[in-house]
Amino acid sequence: MLIDTHCHLDAAEFACDRDEVIRMASEAGVGRIIVPSVERGNFQAVADLAARHPCVRYTLGIHPIYVDRASDEDLVILREAVARAVADPSFIGIGEIGLDHFIPATDRDRQERFFVEQLRLARDFELPVILHVRRAQDAVLKQCRRMAVRGGIAHAFNGSEQQASQFIDLGFALGFGGAMTYERALQIRRLALAFDRQAYVLETDSPDIAPAWRYKQRNAPFELPRIASVFADLRKQDLGTVIGFTHANALRVLPRLSLPSN
Ligand SMILES: [Zn+2]
Repeated sequence: MLIDTHCHLDAAEFACDRDEVIRMASEAGVGRIIVPSVERGNFQAVADLAARHPCVRYTLGIHPIYVDRASDEDLVILREAVARAVADPSFIGIGEIGLDHFIPATDRDRQERFFVEQLRLARDFELPVILHVRRAQDAVLKQCRRMAVRGGIAHAFNGSEQQASQFIDLGFALGFGGAMTYERALQIRRLALAFDRQAYVLETDSPDIAPAWRYKQRNAPFELPRIASVFADLRKQDLGTVIGFTHANALRVLPRLSLPSN
C-alpha cells in the first residue's frame, strides 16, 4: 500500500474538491495520507479530517514559518491537545516542526525555542516527529541528538549525503517526493540512490512541490503512484518492491500508523 507521508489536505487549495481528491487518491492505491498540522488554528481541522476519512492520519505541531505569528501560549495548547490526542488512534506524532533558515525575516532564536519545546513534547510522549528542515540541517540534527527524540521523518529531504546519514542514524527516514521528478535535481536524485532501502519514505507535500508533469500546478496525493514510479526507475527497482519497502519504513518510523483506526 502506498502511503503519502506528508500532505496538507486541509489547505485552502482543496476547499472545493477535498473529498474528491481523497477518493481519487484511494482509487490510485494511496492507502494512507498523513496530514501534519502547522499551527494552533488547524489542529482541529486535521483531527476532523482523520475522523471523517478512514485513510487519513494526523500529527500536531507548530511549523517554523508559523512561529512568528504563534504565541507562547500556543505551546501550552499544543501540549494539552497532544495529551488528549494520544487516545485517538488516528493521531500519530508531532509535526510539522523544525527550523527554516531560508526565510530571512523570521526570528531564529524564537524558532529554535519553539522547535526545542516541541522536541521535548515528542520525547515526553514518546512520539516520533515530522521535520521541516530548510538551510538548517546541522542545527536540526544537533537538537534532535541533544533531545534524544525517537526519530520520525526528515520531510522533503534536501541536505548532503553526510547529513542524511546522521538523520538515518538518529532513527529518521528521508521523505522523497515531487522534487526528484525534475531531471535537473541532481543532488536529490543522487540521494535517492545513495542509501539502503530502509532509508526512504514517499510523500507529495500537496498542494506544494508539484512533480515535473504538474509544474506550477496544485499537487495532490493521487500523484503519489507516478512519483513512486520515478523513484523506482531511479533506483532500478520495480514499483512493487518500492511500494513494499516504503510502506514498511513508514510503519517503522511512525509506529502508531499500525494502530487499528475507526
Ligand atoms: Zn509540510
